[in-house]
Amino acid sequence: MSETLFTRIIKRELPADIVYENDEVIAIRDINPQAPTHVLIIPRRHVATINDIAAAEAEDEIGRLYVAAAHIAAEEGIAEEGYRVVMNCNEAAGQTVFHLHLHLLGGRALGWPPG
Ligand code: AMP
Repeated sequence: MSETLFTRIIKRELPADIVYENDEVIAIRDINPQAPTHVLIIPRRHVATINDIAAAEAEDEIGRLYVAAAHIAAEEGIAEEGYRVVMNCNEAAGQTVFHLHLHLLGGRALGWPPG
């Protein structure tokens, strides 16, 4: 299944607050933010979960999600104080959209370990 909520946002069929994009990546503000900065960094190509990265040969794209995260963190003014990037995999971790994405969270103290 390759048509996801994020695919529809990428195709501009659904609105989103886009904060960054390039040829491979789009980044949007999370509709239900868990921190003052909560951005989702999404590869344009559909890969469902972390478990599918190797089969999709998507290693390079995933690396570029982190490069985009660092760029956006700098733009958001949180690079120096610190931030967290999280990628949930499947139900037990809370993944709800099966088009993999990094959560970029910052702008407040983030507890560790996470709950
Ligand atoms: P995950 O639970 O890791 O799959 O993350 C999915 C994220 O997508 C959640 O944090 C949701 O709040 C967010 N989300 C759901 N619908 C939208 C939307 N239309 N625009 C922006 N973020 C969304």
